[in-house]
Amino acid sequence: MDKSKIISAIREINDYPKPGIVFYDITTLIGNAEVFSEVIEAFKQRYENQEIDFIAGIEARGFIFASALAYALGVGFVPIRKKGKLPYTTKSEKYSLEYGFDEIEIHTDAFGDKKNAKVVLIDDLIATGGTAEASIKLIQSMGAQCIEAGFLIHLKGLNGAKKLSSYTKVFSMLELDGE
Ligand code: AMP
Repeated sequence: MDKSKIISAIREINDYPKPGIVFYDITTLIGNAEVFSEVIEAFKQRYENQEIDFIAGIEARGFIFASALAYALGVGFVPIRKKGKLPYTTKSEKYSLEYGFDEIEIHTDAFGDKKNAKVVLIDDLIATGGTAEASIKLIQSMGAQCIEAGFLIHLKGLNGAKKLSSYTKVFSMLELDGE
């Protein structure tokens, strides 16, 4: 895996969505067939011998990487979505944002009859870790085990990975500056 090629494929947008934030735009990466498949292949190699039952992805950019990885591994994909988007019965979890809170949900039958399902949670980027922490709580509350949370990008300086370390292992392909 050529990390510098992957980093070059990510577009940095300054002051989006508000002044002072550097937004890491992965649309340029996923539009590049070679780099996108290299990223999915690297995730696949990490998880292929771990008897994973499901890949869970966080709406919306997490779905892109998580569903491609689930397909590559030949396992099911479980969506974790913003409140009000999942049609069946759900469990939800609130988490704090800089101002106020947000809420995400999972279907109550997401892992079917599988007891103690082995799940890897995937998102494009971890910043404060709040979204991933809430997602792990949802996975665990369904009786499944989140064996790792995997990210394409970890923004150093926000301690997001540390926040998750009491719940699960954390893996990130790239460490980038950001706070
Ligand atoms: P957090 O809960 O603070 O870890 O935020 C993670 C979520 O917000 C992920 O789903 C990211 O897609 C998104 N996100 C947060 N900060 C950025 C950023 N600087 N660039 C791109 N996406 C971001």
